[in-house]
Amino acid sequence: MTGSYDAVVVGGGVAGYTAAMYAVRYGLDLVLVEMFAGGGQTATATTIENYPGFPEGIEGPELAQRVHQQAVNVGVELVSAEAKAIRAGENDRWVLETTKGDIDTVAVIIATGAQPRSLMVPGEEELRGHGVSYCATCDGFFYRGQTVAVVGGGNAAVEEALYLADIVKKLYLIHRRDELRADKYLQERLFDRDNVEVLWDSVVTAIEGKDVVERLVLQNTQTEAISSLEVDGLFIAIGHIAKTEWLRELLNLNQGFIVTDTLMRTSQAGIFACGDIRNTPLRQVATAVGDAAIAAFSAHNYVNEWKATHR
Ligand code: NAP
Repeated sequence: MTGSYDAVVVGGGVAGYTAAMYAVRYGLDLVLVEMFAGGGQTATATTIENYPGFPEGIEGPELAQRVHQQAVNVGVELVSAEAKAIRAGENDRWVLETTKGDIDTVAVIIATGAQPRSLMVPGEEELRGHGVSYCATCDGFFYRGQTVAVVGGGNAAVEEALYLADIVKKLYLIHRRDELRADKYLQERLFDRDNVEVLWDSVVTAIEGKDVVERLVLQNTQTEAISSLEVDGLFIAIGHIAKTEWLRELLNLNQGFIVTDTLMRTSQAGIFACGDIRNTPLRQVATAVGDAAIAAFSAHNYVNEWKATHR
């Protein structure tokens, strides 16, 4: 497939579909390149209860399907291919290299998402969505008055723990070292909480339970002693992974995530990013669609400016 467009969106999650929908409604001639069936992380989420407009919540796959349908309804052209590289084209344009050929474009919007890092321990996959969660903002509400654990020692883990500590009866923060990586002010807030206990030098080696999480198997990294901890839920907050190796030479990244300004502009004129791939403190459907609307707005302005100066 080769073609020439005003804009290309890379990534078929809610951020990508939303950016494409907005951009087409702005009048841009656009194609969206997605790798698989689409929907991104939203398509694998369980019930999403914090996205406005759905007071009873909505299943992730249904929300993803609806956003996809909305993009198709406004005429977004979809191509199933893998983006491999972006190179400078002629006349201040960009060329997106894909497994189905090159696409020539004025603007590129990157919305390829990120994945929470897995612990890779027995029970994690089986009990995902049944007590194993990667998002306190999404699932914390289900654990009101119960006992949960958070794994991790960074800002995200401590923020998740602080959020959950207001909801649950007892919270364990499990960290593999004897000091947290999180900012001091967050640590102080955590240590102030009466219902929080930090389990230092500890790693989770297995997650157990018949249908839902019932207990964790822990190992002390100093003594190698094994112990068991009864919990109703486990929140894993050990970072996210962004697949941005293909952009490393081109864009300014922070720990693999694309650095943008508030208009979703990257370090290259004409290339924008939105959603979880962005260097952002919160990764939610609500933030992804907000980012996407701004990215489309900025891409539209950029394309108009390009047309005014390249004719
Ligand atoms: P992070 O800073 O990379 O921290 C990851 C934590 O998980 C570390 O404590 C690490 O332990 C631990 N960890 C990693 N792999 C592990 C494993 N396999 N088993 C057990 N523990 C593991 O990630 P993050 O907290 O998601 O934050 C990502 C970035 O966003 C950071 O730059 C962070 O500052 C930023 N952020 C900022 C805010 C804020 O400013 N309010 C909020 C959230 C995130 P070690 O410490 O031993 O390496």
